[in-house]
Amino acid sequence: MRIARFTTGDDPRFGFVQTENGKDFLAVVNGDPLYMPVTPTGERIEIGDGVRLLAPVIPRSKIIGVGRNYADHAKEMGNEVPTSPLLFFKPNTAVIGPDDPIVLPDFTSEASYESELAVVIGRITKDVTPERALDHVLGYTVANDVTARDAQRTDGQWARAKGFDTSCPIGPWIETELDTEALGVSSRVNGETRQDGNTRDLVFDIAFLVSYISEAFTLLPGDLILTGTPAGVGPIVEGDRVECEVEGIGVLSNPVVRRGV
Ligand code: MG
Repeated sequence: MRIARFTTGDDPRFGFVQTENGKDFLAVVNGDPLYMPVTPTGERIEIGDGVRLLAPVIPRSKIIGVGRNYADHAKEMGNEVPTSPLLFFKPNTAVIGPDDPIVLPDFTSEASYESELAVVIGRITKDVTPERALDHVLGYTVANDVTARDAQRTDGQWARAKGFDTSCPIGPWIETELDTEALGVSSRVNGETRQDGNTRDLVFDIAFLVSYISEAFTLLPGDLILTGTPAGVGPIVEGDRVECEVEGIGVLSNPVVRRGV
């Protein structure tokens, strides 16, 4: 099932995405399927003009990123593969949705895209074993872990480099039925392929990550885990359009702008 959050101009609503004859429709539901049982309203809307998809979830508590979780990416940055997951936070204020602009802050002249598979937590999770971890996952979406590479080098901590407003595009929806063993993870800038990786190359797999993270932090429904990016990261500048894609989920596309002074 694909869960989308959308607006037609009023308050955000949720719908289940259905594809018919090559067209995507939203079967609108009452309520928020991340936090409550929902019922269909009977309304059906074609995704297109007049419908804007939004970030499928705004995490209530946190987004946890995993650094250097593909060996080829660790290598291209001149880093070793960590012996245990390297974790960082992005604040929920960094989240934007499909087609929302990534706004480059003044403090960076070296922003980069990072296409990633994102895990959406479905239940309160603490000290879960790897064997039970996937029972706590609601589904998966696509994330762009936008990073100010210069600030990442100079700051030591990654809070500013990976946490600035608009640094966490997610979408286009949450796919709840997905085998994540071997999914293509790719990105394009202005239509040109930049990353072409596969989740089979994750250093730490999803069940292990959920378990490991839940030893440190209680995960709440709607929290996100960004599972790392494959090789091929590079710069984005004002005027670019960056597309991140995970096989079996979809394409997340965002324009890049720079805040006017
Ligand atoms: Mg990343």
